[in-house]
Amino acid sequence: MVVGDVTTGTEVLVIGAGPGGYVAAIRAAQEGLDTTLVEKDAYGGACLNRGCIPSKALITGSGLAHEAGNAEFMGVHADPAVDMGKMIEWKDGVVDRLTGGVEKLCKANGVNLVEGVASFVGENTVRVAHGGDGQGSETLEFEHAVIATGSRPIQVPGFDFAEDHVWSSADALDADTVPDRLGVVGGGYIGMELATTYAKLGAEVTVVEMLDDILDPYEDDVKRVVRKRAEELGVEFNFGEGASEWTEAPDGGYLLRTETEDGEESTYGVDKILVAVGRQPVTDGLDLENAGIETDDRGFVETDDRTRTAVEHVHAVGDVAGDPMLAHAASNEGIVAAEVIAGEPAALDRQAVPAAVFTDPEIGTVGMTEAEAAEAGFEPAVGEMPFNASGRAMTTGHTEGFVRIVADEETGFVLGGQIVGPEASELIAEVALAVEMGATLEDVAATVHTHPTLAEAVMEAAENARGQAIHTLNR
Ligand SMILES: Cc1cc2nc3c(=O)[nH]c(=O)nc-3n(C[C@H](O)[C@H](O)[C@H](O)COP(=O)(O)OP(=O)(O)OC[C@H]3O[C@@H](n4cnc5c(N)ncnc54)[C@H](O)[C@@H]3O)c2cc1C
Repeated sequence: MVVGDVTTGTEVLVIGAGPGGYVAAIRAAQEGLDTTLVEKDAYGGACLNRGCIPSKALITGSGLAHEAGNAEFMGVHADPAVDMGKMIEWKDGVVDRLTGGVEKLCKANGVNLVEGVASFVGENTVRVAHGGDGQGSETLEFEHAVIATGSRPIQVPGFDFAEDHVWSSADALDADTVPDRLGVVGGGYIGMELATTYAKLGAEVTVVEMLDDILDPYEDDVKRVVRKRAEELGVEFNFGEGASEWTEAPDGGYLLRTETEDGEESTYGVDKILVAVGRQPVTDGLDLENAGIETDDRGFVETDDRTRTAVEHVHAVGDVAGDPMLAHAASNEGIVAAEVIAGEPAALDRQAVPAAVFTDPEIGTVGMTEAEAAEAGFEPAVGEMPFNASGRAMTTGHTEGFVRIVADEETGFVLGGQIVGPEASELIAEVALAVEMGATLEDVAATVHTHPTLAEAVMEAAENARGQAIHTLNR
Protein backbone atom coordinates (compact mmCIF):
# COMPACT_ATOMS: atom_id res chain seq x y z
CA MET A 1 0.00 0.00 0.00
CA VAL A 2 1.41 3.38 -0.99
CA VAL A 3 1.62 5.90 1.83
CA GLY A 4 1.80 9.65 1.28
CA ASP A 5 1.85 11.67 -1.89
CA VAL A 6 3.38 9.48 -4.54
CA THR A 7 2.59 10.07 -8.20
CA THR A 8 2.42 7.14 -10.58
CA GLY A 9 1.48 6.96 -14.23
CA THR A 10 -0.78 4.52 -16.06
CA GLU A 11 -2.05 4.26 -19.62
CA VAL A 12 -5.59 3.30 -18.58
CA LEU A 13 -7.18 4.13 -15.25
CA VAL A 14 -10.48 2.42 -14.40
CA ILE A 15 -12.51 3.73 -11.46
CA GLY A 16 -14.79 1.12 -9.90
CA ALA A 17 -14.48 -2.68 -9.95
CA GLY A 18 -18.08 -3.67 -10.72
CA PRO A 19 -18.99 -5.67 -13.85
CA GLY A 20 -18.37 -2.55 -15.95
CA GLY A 21 -15.01 -1.60 -14.46
CA TYR A 22 -13.28 -4.93 -13.84
CA VAL A 23 -14.21 -6.19 -17.31
CA ALA A 24 -12.91 -2.96 -18.89
CA ALA A 25 -9.67 -3.30 -16.90
CA ILE A 26 -9.10 -6.94 -17.85
CA ARG A 27 -9.79 -6.30 -21.55
CA ALA A 28 -7.52 -3.19 -21.54
CA ALA A 29 -4.73 -5.27 -19.98
CA GLN A 30 -5.36 -8.02 -22.56
CA GLU A 31 -4.91 -5.35 -25.24
CA GLY A 32 -1.42 -4.79 -23.86
CA LEU A 33 -2.21 -1.50 -22.11
CA ASP A 34 -0.75 -0.67 -18.71
CA THR A 35 -3.95 -0.65 -16.64
CA THR A 36 -4.81 0.40 -13.08
CA LEU A 37 -8.12 -0.37 -11.39
CA VAL A 38 -9.22 1.62 -8.33
CA GLU A 39 -11.91 0.25 -6.03
CA LYS A 40 -13.07 1.79 -2.79
CA ASP A 41 -15.09 -1.09 -1.41
CA ALA A 42 -15.32 -4.64 -2.77
CA TYR A 43 -14.41 -6.32 -6.07
CA GLY A 44 -17.44 -7.18 -8.17
CA GLY A 45 -19.42 -4.02 -7.34
CA ALA A 46 -23.15 -4.04 -6.69
CA CYS A 47 -23.68 -7.05 -8.96
CA LEU A 48 -21.60 -9.55 -7.00
CA ASN A 49 -21.91 -8.04 -3.51
CA ARG A 50 -25.46 -6.72 -3.14
CA GLY A 51 -27.27 -7.19 -6.45
CA CYS A 52 -27.56 -9.89 -9.11
CA ILE A 53 -25.72 -12.73 -7.40
CA PRO A 54 -26.95 -12.47 -3.77
CA SER A 55 -30.51 -11.87 -4.94
CA LYS A 56 -30.43 -14.89 -7.24
CA ALA A 57 -29.00 -17.03 -4.42
CA LEU A 58 -31.92 -16.10 -2.15
CA ILE A 59 -34.40 -16.52 -5.00
CA THR A 60 -33.08 -20.05 -5.51
CA GLY A 61 -33.12 -20.89 -1.79
CA SER A 62 -36.61 -19.53 -1.19
CA GLY A 63 -37.85 -21.13 -4.44
CA LEU A 64 -36.51 -24.52 -3.44
CA ALA A 65 -38.21 -24.36 -0.04
CA HIS A 66 -41.46 -23.25 -1.62
CA GLU A 67 -41.36 -25.91 -4.35
CA ALA A 68 -40.62 -28.70 -1.90
CA GLY A 69 -43.47 -27.61 0.34
CA ASN A 70 -45.94 -27.36 -2.54
CA ALA A 71 -45.35 -30.50 -4.56
CA GLU A 72 -48.13 -32.73 -3.21
CA PHE A 73 -49.63 -32.77 -6.70
CA MET A 74 -46.50 -34.69 -7.78
CA GLY A 75 -46.75 -37.00 -4.80
CA VAL A 76 -43.99 -35.24 -2.89
CA HIS A 77 -44.86 -34.48 0.73
CA ALA A 78 -42.49 -32.21 2.61
CA ASP A 79 -42.65 -29.45 5.15
CA PRO A 80 -39.33 -27.69 4.70
CA ALA A 81 -37.97 -25.46 7.45
CA VAL A 82 -35.76 -22.56 6.37
CA ASP A 83 -32.69 -21.68 8.43
CA MET A 84 -32.26 -18.11 7.23
CA GLY A 85 -28.88 -17.69 8.93
CA LYS A 86 -27.56 -20.72 7.06
CA MET A 87 -29.02 -19.50 3.77
CA ILE A 88 -27.28 -16.12 4.20
CA GLU A 89 -24.02 -17.91 5.08
CA TRP A 90 -24.29 -19.98 1.89
CA LYS A 91 -25.09 -16.85 -0.14
CA ASP A 92 -22.09 -15.05 1.37
CA GLY A 93 -19.88 -18.01 0.47
CA VAL A 94 -20.99 -17.76 -3.17
CA VAL A 95 -20.30 -14.00 -3.13
CA ASP A 96 -16.84 -14.51 -1.58
CA ARG A 97 -15.83 -17.08 -4.17
CA LEU A 98 -16.88 -14.79 -7.00
CA THR A 99 -15.35 -11.57 -5.65
CA GLY A 100 -12.11 -13.42 -4.85
CA GLY A 101 -12.19 -14.74 -8.42
CA VAL A 102 -12.46 -11.20 -9.82
CA GLU A 103 -9.40 -10.07 -7.85
CA LYS A 104 -7.40 -13.10 -9.01
CA LEU A 105 -8.44 -12.62 -12.65
CA CYS A 106 -7.45 -8.96 -12.57
CA LYS A 107 -4.04 -9.82 -11.13
CA ALA A 108 -3.52 -12.73 -13.52
CA ASN A 109 -4.20 -10.40 -16.45
CA GLY A 110 -1.65 -7.91 -15.14
CA VAL A 111 -4.06 -5.22 -13.90
CA ASN A 112 -2.59 -3.03 -11.12
CA LEU A 113 -5.05 -2.95 -8.23
CA VAL A 114 -5.35 0.10 -6.00
CA GLU A 115 -7.71 0.31 -3.05
CA GLY A 116 -9.22 3.69 -2.26
CA VAL A 117 -11.61 6.43 -3.32
CA ALA A 118 -10.73 8.11 -6.60
CA SER A 119 -11.56 11.72 -7.46
CA PHE A 120 -10.47 13.82 -10.42
CA VAL A 121 -7.87 16.52 -9.88
CA GLY A 122 -7.54 17.40 -13.57
CA GLU A 123 -8.21 16.07 -17.07
CA ASN A 124 -5.42 13.50 -16.74
CA THR A 125 -5.04 13.13 -12.99
CA VAL A 126 -6.89 11.50 -10.12
CA ARG A 127 -6.19 11.42 -6.44
CA VAL A 128 -6.85 8.18 -4.63
CA ALA A 129 -7.58 8.51 -0.93
CA HIS A 130 -6.76 5.32 0.92
CA GLY A 131 -8.94 4.15 3.75
CA GLY A 132 -7.89 3.76 7.36
CA ASP A 133 -5.70 5.83 9.62
CA GLY A 134 -2.61 7.41 8.19
CA GLN A 135 -2.72 5.50 4.93
CA GLY A 136 -2.65 8.74 2.97
CA SER A 137 -3.31 9.18 -0.69
CA GLU A 138 -1.63 8.85 -4.02
CA THR A 139 -1.88 10.66 -7.30
CA LEU A 140 -2.31 8.78 -10.55
CA GLU A 141 -1.70 10.28 -13.95
CA PHE A 142 -3.47 8.57 -16.83
CA GLU A 143 -3.72 8.74 -20.60
CA HIS A 144 -7.26 7.30 -20.69
CA ALA A 145 -9.81 6.80 -17.93
CA VAL A 146 -12.97 4.72 -17.59
CA ILE A 147 -15.52 5.86 -15.01
CA ALA A 148 -17.42 2.80 -13.77
CA THR A 149 -18.66 3.94 -10.37
CA GLY A 150 -22.12 2.39 -10.66
CA SER A 151 -25.28 3.30 -8.82
CA ARG A 152 -26.92 3.22 -5.40
CA PRO A 153 -30.56 2.90 -4.27
CA ILE A 154 -32.67 6.08 -4.37
CA GLN A 155 -33.81 7.23 -0.93
CA VAL A 156 -37.43 8.26 -0.36
CA PRO A 157 -37.78 11.27 1.95
CA GLY A 158 -38.67 10.11 5.45
CA PHE A 159 -37.45 6.56 4.84
CA ASP A 160 -33.86 6.57 6.05
CA PHE A 161 -31.89 3.39 5.31
CA ALA A 162 -30.02 4.00 8.58
CA GLU A 163 -33.22 3.00 10.44
CA ASP A 164 -33.22 -0.66 11.33
CA HIS A 165 -36.70 -1.31 9.98
CA VAL A 166 -36.18 0.57 6.69
CA TRP A 167 -34.45 -1.72 4.23
CA SER A 168 -32.55 -0.97 1.05
CA SER A 169 -32.27 -3.89 -1.39
CA ALA A 170 -28.84 -4.59 0.13
CA ASP A 171 -30.38 -4.94 3.62
CA ALA A 172 -33.03 -7.31 2.26
CA LEU A 173 -30.23 -9.53 0.95
CA ASP A 174 -28.47 -9.70 4.31
CA ALA A 175 -31.34 -10.22 6.76
CA ASP A 176 -30.93 -13.42 8.75
CA THR A 177 -34.54 -13.45 9.92
CA VAL A 178 -37.72 -13.21 7.88
CA PRO A 179 -40.07 -10.42 9.01
CA ASP A 180 -43.67 -11.47 9.64
CA ARG A 181 -44.93 -8.54 7.57
CA LEU A 182 -42.90 -6.87 4.83
CA GLY A 183 -43.98 -3.64 3.15
CA VAL A 184 -42.36 -3.16 -0.27
CA VAL A 185 -42.27 0.35 -1.68
CA GLY A 186 -41.90 0.07 -5.45
CA GLY A 187 -43.10 -2.60 -7.87
CA GLY A 188 -40.12 -2.45 -10.23
CA TYR A 189 -37.94 -5.48 -10.90
CA ILE A 190 -35.92 -5.28 -7.68
CA GLY A 191 -39.07 -4.78 -5.55
CA MET A 192 -40.88 -7.63 -7.29
CA GLU A 193 -37.96 -10.09 -7.13
CA LEU A 194 -37.61 -9.47 -3.39
CA ALA A 195 -41.39 -9.41 -2.77
CA THR A 196 -41.78 -12.91 -4.27
CA THR A 197 -38.66 -14.15 -2.45
CA TYR A 198 -39.94 -13.01 0.94
CA ALA A 199 -43.47 -14.25 0.22
CA LYS A 200 -41.99 -17.70 -0.41
CA LEU A 201 -40.01 -17.45 2.82
CA GLY A 202 -43.30 -16.95 4.68
CA ALA A 203 -43.58 -13.16 5.05
CA GLU A 204 -46.91 -11.42 4.53
CA VAL A 205 -45.94 -9.03 1.73
CA THR A 206 -47.68 -5.77 0.81
CA VAL A 207 -46.47 -3.86 -2.26
CA VAL A 208 -47.28 -0.18 -2.70
CA GLU A 209 -46.65 1.28 -6.14
CA MET A 210 -47.34 4.78 -7.41
CA LEU A 211 -48.14 3.61 -10.96
CA ASP A 212 -51.15 1.49 -11.81
CA ASP A 213 -49.22 -1.75 -12.32
CA ILE A 214 -45.95 -3.51 -11.53
CA LEU A 215 -42.89 -3.76 -13.81
CA ASP A 216 -43.47 -0.60 -15.82
CA PRO A 217 -41.34 -1.35 -18.92
CA TYR A 218 -43.03 -4.65 -19.76
CA GLU A 219 -46.12 -5.46 -21.85
CA ASP A 220 -49.46 -5.88 -20.08
CA ASP A 221 -49.90 -9.59 -20.76
CA VAL A 222 -46.36 -10.28 -19.52
CA LYS A 223 -46.96 -8.34 -16.29
CA ARG A 224 -50.32 -10.03 -15.77
CA VAL A 225 -48.72 -13.48 -15.51
CA VAL A 226 -46.25 -12.32 -12.85
CA ARG A 227 -48.83 -10.32 -10.89
CA LYS A 228 -51.29 -13.24 -10.83
CA ARG A 229 -48.63 -15.64 -9.56
CA ALA A 230 -47.46 -13.14 -6.92
CA GLU A 231 -51.07 -12.80 -5.75
CA GLU A 232 -51.28 -16.60 -5.51
CA LEU A 233 -48.19 -16.43 -3.29
CA GLY A 234 -50.10 -14.03 -1.05
CA VAL A 235 -48.55 -10.72 -2.18
CA GLU A 236 -51.02 -7.85 -1.80
CA PHE A 237 -50.82 -4.99 -4.29
CA ASN A 238 -51.82 -1.36 -3.74
CA PHE A 239 -51.49 0.69 -6.91
CA GLY A 240 -51.62 4.46 -7.34
CA GLU A 241 -50.16 4.96 -3.86
CA GLY A 242 -46.89 6.60 -2.86
CA ALA A 243 -45.25 5.93 0.49
CA SER A 244 -45.43 9.11 2.56
CA GLU A 245 -44.21 8.20 6.07
CA TRP A 246 -43.94 5.52 8.71
CA THR A 247 -44.92 5.67 12.36
CA GLU A 248 -44.62 3.24 15.22
CA ALA A 249 -47.73 1.13 15.67
CA PRO A 250 -49.21 1.09 19.17
CA ASP A 251 -49.31 -2.72 19.19
CA GLY A 252 -45.74 -3.19 17.90
CA GLY A 253 -44.26 -2.98 14.43
CA TYR A 254 -44.81 0.03 12.18
CA LEU A 255 -47.49 1.70 10.15
CA LEU A 256 -46.58 2.39 6.55
CA ARG A 257 -48.63 5.36 5.39
CA THR A 258 -49.35 5.97 1.69
CA GLU A 259 -51.07 8.71 -0.26
CA THR A 260 -52.77 8.76 -3.66
CA GLU A 261 -52.51 11.68 -6.08
CA ASP A 262 -55.90 12.87 -4.79
CA GLY A 263 -54.65 12.89 -1.21
CA GLU A 264 -56.39 9.70 -0.07
CA GLU A 265 -54.42 8.02 2.69
CA SER A 266 -53.99 4.36 3.64
CA THR A 267 -51.94 2.62 6.30
CA TYR A 268 -50.46 -0.86 6.37
CA GLY A 269 -49.11 -2.69 9.41
CA VAL A 270 -45.56 -3.92 8.72
CA ASP A 271 -42.42 -5.04 10.55
CA LYS A 272 -39.90 -4.01 7.88
CA ILE A 273 -40.18 -1.63 4.94
CA LEU A 274 -38.15 -2.36 1.80
CA VAL A 275 -37.69 0.77 -0.30
CA ALA A 276 -36.94 -0.19 -3.91
CA VAL A 277 -37.87 2.79 -6.07
CA GLY A 278 -34.91 2.79 -8.43
CA ARG A 279 -31.22 3.55 -8.49
CA GLN A 280 -29.20 6.70 -9.02
CA PRO A 281 -25.67 7.15 -10.41
CA VAL A 282 -22.70 7.40 -8.05
CA THR A 283 -20.82 10.52 -9.14
CA ASP A 284 -20.61 12.47 -5.91
CA GLY A 285 -17.07 12.85 -4.62
CA LEU A 286 -15.63 12.18 -8.09
CA ASP A 287 -15.11 15.91 -8.71
CA LEU A 288 -16.02 15.39 -12.35
CA GLU A 289 -15.85 19.14 -12.98
CA ASN A 290 -12.06 18.98 -12.53
CA ALA A 291 -11.96 16.72 -15.59
CA GLY A 292 -14.41 18.95 -17.49
CA ILE A 293 -17.21 16.37 -17.41
CA GLU A 294 -20.86 17.32 -16.87
CA THR A 295 -23.78 15.11 -15.93
CA ASP A 296 -27.33 15.18 -17.31
CA ASP A 297 -30.28 16.43 -15.23
CA ARG A 298 -30.61 13.03 -13.51
CA GLY A 299 -26.91 12.89 -12.66
CA PHE A 300 -25.82 10.33 -15.27
CA VAL A 301 -22.60 10.78 -17.24
CA GLU A 302 -23.46 11.23 -20.91
CA THR A 303 -21.59 9.08 -23.42
CA ASP A 304 -21.57 8.40 -27.15
CA ASP A 305 -21.87 5.01 -28.84
CA ARG A 306 -18.15 4.44 -28.23
CA THR A 307 -18.59 5.07 -24.46
CA ARG A 308 -16.70 8.39 -24.67
CA THR A 309 -17.73 11.36 -22.51
CA ALA A 310 -17.48 14.95 -23.71
CA VAL A 311 -13.79 14.67 -22.77
CA GLU A 312 -12.67 12.18 -25.39
CA HIS A 313 -10.05 10.30 -23.44
CA VAL A 314 -12.43 9.75 -20.51
CA HIS A 315 -15.04 7.01 -20.95
CA ALA A 316 -18.01 6.05 -18.75
CA VAL A 317 -19.62 2.62 -18.61
CA GLY A 318 -22.29 0.76 -16.67
CA ASP A 319 -24.95 2.19 -14.38
CA VAL A 320 -23.20 5.56 -14.06
CA ALA A 321 -23.73 6.05 -17.82
CA GLY A 322 -27.50 5.34 -17.58
CA ASP A 323 -29.84 2.81 -19.19
CA PRO A 324 -29.83 -0.11 -19.56
CA MET A 325 -28.72 -0.43 -15.91
CA LEU A 326 -27.87 -4.13 -16.10
CA ALA A 327 -24.71 -6.05 -15.28
CA HIS A 328 -24.24 -7.60 -18.72
CA ALA A 329 -24.76 -4.21 -20.38
CA ALA A 330 -22.10 -2.75 -18.06
CA SER A 331 -19.63 -5.50 -19.00
CA ASN A 332 -20.36 -5.08 -22.69
CA GLU A 333 -19.76 -1.33 -22.39
CA GLY A 334 -16.55 -2.04 -20.45
CA ILE A 335 -15.24 -4.19 -23.31
CA VAL A 336 -16.16 -1.53 -25.87
CA ALA A 337 -14.41 1.17 -23.79
CA ALA A 338 -11.21 -0.88 -23.53
CA GLU A 339 -11.21 -1.73 -27.23
CA VAL A 340 -11.88 1.87 -28.28
CA ILE A 341 -8.97 2.97 -26.07
CA ALA A 342 -6.81 0.30 -27.72
CA GLY A 343 -7.66 1.82 -31.10
CA GLU A 344 -10.02 -0.87 -32.30
CA PRO A 345 -13.22 -0.10 -34.27
CA ALA A 346 -15.56 -1.12 -31.40
CA ALA A 347 -18.94 0.51 -30.75
CA LEU A 348 -22.10 -0.23 -28.78
CA ASP A 349 -24.94 -2.05 -30.48
CA ARG A 350 -28.05 -1.73 -28.33
CA GLN A 351 -30.24 -3.84 -30.61
CA ALA A 352 -29.85 -7.13 -28.78
CA VAL A 353 -29.36 -6.34 -25.09
CA PRO A 354 -31.57 -8.85 -23.26
CA ALA A 355 -33.14 -8.18 -19.86
CA ALA A 356 -34.39 -10.67 -17.30
CA VAL A 357 -36.56 -10.39 -14.22
CA PHE A 358 -36.16 -13.27 -11.77
CA THR A 359 -39.68 -13.24 -10.42
CA ASP A 360 -41.87 -16.35 -10.37
CA PRO A 361 -42.29 -16.93 -13.23
CA GLU A 362 -39.33 -15.21 -14.81
CA ILE A 363 -39.41 -12.64 -17.60
CA GLY A 364 -36.89 -12.47 -20.43
CA THR A 365 -37.02 -9.85 -23.16
CA VAL A 366 -34.83 -8.72 -26.02
CA GLY A 367 -35.14 -6.36 -28.96
CA MET A 368 -38.48 -5.02 -30.11
CA THR A 369 -42.02 -5.66 -28.94
CA GLU A 370 -44.78 -5.89 -31.54
CA ALA A 371 -45.74 -2.24 -30.89
CA GLU A 372 -42.11 -1.07 -31.14
CA ALA A 373 -41.65 -2.98 -34.39
CA ALA A 374 -44.77 -1.36 -35.85
CA GLU A 375 -43.62 2.05 -34.67
CA ALA A 376 -40.24 1.48 -36.32
CA GLY A 377 -42.03 0.92 -39.64
CA PHE A 378 -42.01 -2.88 -39.82
CA GLU A 379 -45.04 -4.98 -40.46
CA PRO A 380 -44.65 -7.31 -37.50
CA ALA A 381 -45.11 -11.06 -37.85
CA VAL A 382 -45.78 -12.37 -34.35
CA GLY A 383 -45.81 -15.95 -33.12
CA GLU A 384 -46.58 -17.35 -29.70
CA MET A 385 -46.31 -20.62 -27.86
CA PRO A 386 -48.02 -20.93 -24.47
CA PHE A 387 -46.16 -22.99 -21.89
CA ASN A 388 -49.38 -24.84 -21.05
CA ALA A 389 -48.94 -26.60 -24.42
CA SER A 390 -45.31 -27.54 -23.70
CA GLY A 391 -44.69 -31.12 -22.62
CA ARG A 392 -41.53 -30.18 -20.74
CA ALA A 393 -43.27 -27.33 -18.90
CA MET A 394 -45.95 -29.78 -17.77
CA THR A 395 -43.32 -32.16 -16.41
CA THR A 396 -41.89 -29.35 -14.26
CA GLY A 397 -45.28 -28.30 -12.93
CA HIS A 398 -44.80 -24.75 -14.27
CA THR A 399 -47.03 -24.01 -17.21
CA GLU A 400 -47.77 -20.31 -16.73
CA GLY A 401 -46.75 -17.86 -19.43
CA PHE A 402 -45.67 -17.93 -23.06
CA VAL A 403 -42.93 -17.33 -25.60
CA ARG A 404 -43.56 -14.56 -28.10
CA ILE A 405 -41.34 -13.91 -31.07
CA VAL A 406 -41.54 -10.75 -33.18
CA ALA A 407 -40.20 -10.64 -36.73
CA ASP A 408 -40.43 -8.57 -39.88
CA GLU A 409 -43.23 -10.02 -42.06
CA GLU A 410 -41.46 -9.16 -45.31
CA THR A 411 -37.98 -10.54 -44.63
CA GLY A 412 -38.63 -12.87 -41.69
CA PHE A 413 -35.79 -11.28 -39.68
CA VAL A 414 -36.29 -11.81 -35.96
CA LEU A 415 -36.63 -8.41 -34.28
CA GLY A 416 -37.25 -9.39 -30.68
CA GLY A 417 -38.97 -11.62 -28.20
CA GLN A 418 -40.78 -11.59 -24.88
CA ILE A 419 -40.88 -14.65 -22.68
CA VAL A 420 -42.68 -15.00 -19.38
CA GLY A 421 -42.54 -18.41 -17.81
CA PRO A 422 -40.17 -21.05 -16.47
CA GLU A 423 -36.47 -20.40 -17.24
CA ALA A 424 -37.32 -17.30 -19.29
CA SER A 425 -33.98 -15.76 -18.25
CA GLU A 426 -32.16 -18.64 -19.99
CA LEU A 427 -34.49 -19.08 -22.95
CA ILE A 428 -34.25 -15.43 -24.00
CA ALA A 429 -30.59 -16.05 -24.93
CA GLU A 430 -31.78 -17.99 -27.99
CA VAL A 431 -33.88 -15.06 -29.20
CA ALA A 432 -31.02 -12.65 -28.43
CA LEU A 433 -28.71 -14.77 -30.58
CA ALA A 434 -31.29 -14.75 -33.39
CA VAL A 435 -31.59 -10.94 -33.26
CA GLU A 436 -27.82 -10.44 -33.07
CA MET A 437 -27.09 -12.89 -35.91
CA GLY A 438 -29.81 -11.50 -38.16
CA ALA A 439 -31.54 -14.90 -38.13
CA THR A 440 -34.97 -15.33 -39.73
CA LEU A 441 -38.05 -17.09 -38.38
CA GLU A 442 -37.22 -19.92 -40.74
CA ASP A 443 -33.72 -20.25 -39.23
CA VAL A 444 -35.20 -20.59 -35.74
CA ALA A 445 -38.04 -22.86 -36.83
CA ALA A 446 -35.75 -25.13 -38.85
CA THR A 447 -33.22 -25.53 -36.04
CA VAL A 448 -33.85 -28.95 -34.56
CA HIS A 449 -34.43 -28.53 -30.82
CA THR A 450 -33.94 -31.22 -28.19
CA HIS A 451 -37.15 -32.85 -26.96
CA PRO A 452 -38.57 -32.47 -24.41
CA THR A 453 -37.24 -29.00 -23.52
CA LEU A 454 -38.61 -25.59 -22.76
CA ALA A 455 -36.49 -24.27 -25.64
CA GLU A 456 -38.79 -26.07 -28.08
CA ALA A 457 -41.31 -23.33 -27.24
CA VAL A 458 -39.05 -20.81 -29.02
CA MET A 459 -39.00 -22.98 -32.14
CA GLU A 460 -42.78 -23.43 -31.93
CA ALA A 461 -43.31 -19.66 -31.55
CA ALA A 462 -41.23 -19.10 -34.70
CA GLU A 463 -43.31 -21.68 -36.56
CA ASN A 464 -46.47 -20.05 -35.24
CA ALA A 465 -45.34 -16.68 -36.64
CA ARG A 466 -44.96 -18.37 -40.05
CA GLY A 467 -48.43 -19.92 -39.82
CA GLN A 468 -46.86 -23.40 -39.64
CA ALA A 469 -47.17 -24.36 -35.98
CA ILE A 470 -47.81 -28.03 -35.37
CA HIS A 471 -48.46 -28.07 -31.62
CA THR A 472 -50.58 -24.91 -31.30
CA LEU A 473 -53.26 -23.34 -33.43
CA ASN A 474 -51.82 -20.82 -35.86
CA ARG A 475 -52.72 -17.16 -35.32
C1 LIG B 1 -30.91 -6.19 -5.84
C2 LIG B 1 -30.33 -6.03 -7.21
C3 LIG B 1 -30.49 -7.05 -8.13
C4 LIG B 1 -29.97 -6.94 -9.40
N1 LIG B 1 -30.14 -7.98 -10.26
C5 LIG B 1 -29.63 -7.90 -11.51
C6 LIG B 1 -29.74 -8.99 -12.41
O1 LIG B 1 -30.30 -10.03 -12.08
N2 LIG B 1 -29.20 -8.86 -13.64
C7 LIG B 1 -28.56 -7.71 -14.03
O2 LIG B 1 -28.09 -7.65 -15.17
N3 LIG B 1 -28.43 -6.67 -13.21
C8 LIG B 1 -28.94 -6.73 -11.95
N4 LIG B 1 -28.76 -5.69 -11.09
C9 LIG B 1 -28.08 -4.47 -11.58
C10 LIG B 1 -26.55 -4.64 -11.56
O3 LIG B 1 -26.14 -4.95 -10.25
C11 LIG B 1 -25.89 -3.36 -12.05
O4 LIG B 1 -26.41 -3.02 -13.32
C12 LIG B 1 -24.38 -3.54 -12.17
O5 LIG B 1 -23.81 -3.89 -10.94
C13 LIG B 1 -23.75 -2.24 -12.66
O6 LIG B 1 -22.38 -2.43 -12.78
P1 LIG B 1 -21.37 -1.21 -12.71
O7 LIG B 1 -20.00 -1.78 -12.95
O8 LIG B 1 -21.83 -0.11 -13.56
O9 LIG B 1 -21.47 -0.64 -11.21
P2 LIG B 1 -21.42 -1.30 -9.80
O10 LIG B 1 -21.63 -2.75 -9.83
O11 LIG B 1 -22.30 -0.46 -8.95
O12 LIG B 1 -19.90 -1.08 -9.35
C14 LIG B 1 -19.36 0.19 -9.14
C15 LIG B 1 -18.13 0.07 -8.26
O13 LIG B 1 -17.48 1.34 -8.20
C16 LIG B 1 -16.97 1.55 -6.88
N5 LIG B 1 -16.78 2.99 -6.71
C17 LIG B 1 -17.75 3.95 -6.72
N6 LIG B 1 -17.19 5.18 -6.57
C18 LIG B 1 -15.85 4.99 -6.48
C19 LIG B 1 -14.75 5.87 -6.33
N7 LIG B 1 -14.90 7.19 -6.28
N8 LIG B 1 -13.51 5.32 -6.27
C20 LIG B 1 -13.33 3.98 -6.32
N9 LIG B 1 -14.34 3.10 -6.46
C21 LIG B 1 -15.58 3.59 -6.56
C22 LIG B 1 -18.07 0.93 -6.00
O14 LIG B 1 -17.59 0.62 -4.72
C23 LIG B 1 -18.47 -0.31 -6.81
O15 LIG B 1 -17.72 -1.44 -6.44
C24 LIG B 1 -29.25 -5.77 -9.78
C25 LIG B 1 -29.08 -4.73 -8.87
C26 LIG B 1 -29.60 -4.86 -7.59
C27 LIG B 1 -29.39 -3.74 -6.62
